[in-house]
Amino acid sequence: MTERIGVYVCHCGTNIAGVVDVAEVSKWAGEKLAHRGVVVSRDYKFMCSSLGQELIQKDIKEFGLTRVVVAACSPHLHEATFRNACKEAGLNPYLCEMVSIREQVSRVHTDKEAATEKAKAMIAGGVARVAHNEALEPLRVPIHADTLVVGGGIAGIQSRSKSLMRASTSIWWSANRPSAVTWRSSTRPSPRWIVRHVFSRRKWSRWAATRTSPC
Ligand code: SF4
Repeated sequence: MTERIGVYVCHCGTNIAGVVDVAEVSKWAGEKLAHRGVVVSRDYKFMCSSLGQELIQKDIKEFGLTRVVVAACSPHLHEATFRNACKEAGLNPYLCEMVSIREQVSRVHTDKEAATEKAKAMIAGGVARVAHNEALEPLRVPIHADTLVVGGGIAGIQSRSKSLMRASTSIWWSANRPSAVTWRSSTRPSPRWIVRHVFSRRKWSRWAATRTSPC
């Protein structure tokens, strides 16, 4: 099946448009990537705004898009936004891909011509990639709700977060010596936990005694 792909290039105010010629990139994608299935290509000031999302949704219905590529900021920031917008328009959210032309282009380059060429190359990559995406459905799988945390350092501190405490029935820490994290370890301490940590504490005391010995 030939895919019908929409490409959307965001200005992000001047964050992207100040360095990348977004109008040129959008025009180029519409013309030069038509053979790869691009049927519509647009640029817009703020693609994550309601109007920007509505633009994409309207095109999905009007052009019968089967894939969407949004060239904007990092997917960490707005991938969920655009995937939800696609889902609301009836397109499987995993058929939407983002290309980061802000973090990976406009924020790290000053040469407008070179940045524009790089943005084009990245969008070409995004279009090639999205054609291979498959529609996915979220799954619910049963899991064992206990958590094992290895290390009493940063990993341990992170694991003290309330969300992990709420999600786990028991949290187990494994550390080679007691730390601020491991002293109070579980919302529901078990006998096994107490034995383990008391043992660790004694071992730690013995080790500390050897380190402070005047001999
Ligand atoms: S989608 Fe990203 S790049 Fe575009 S306006 Fe929103 S934050 Fe800026």
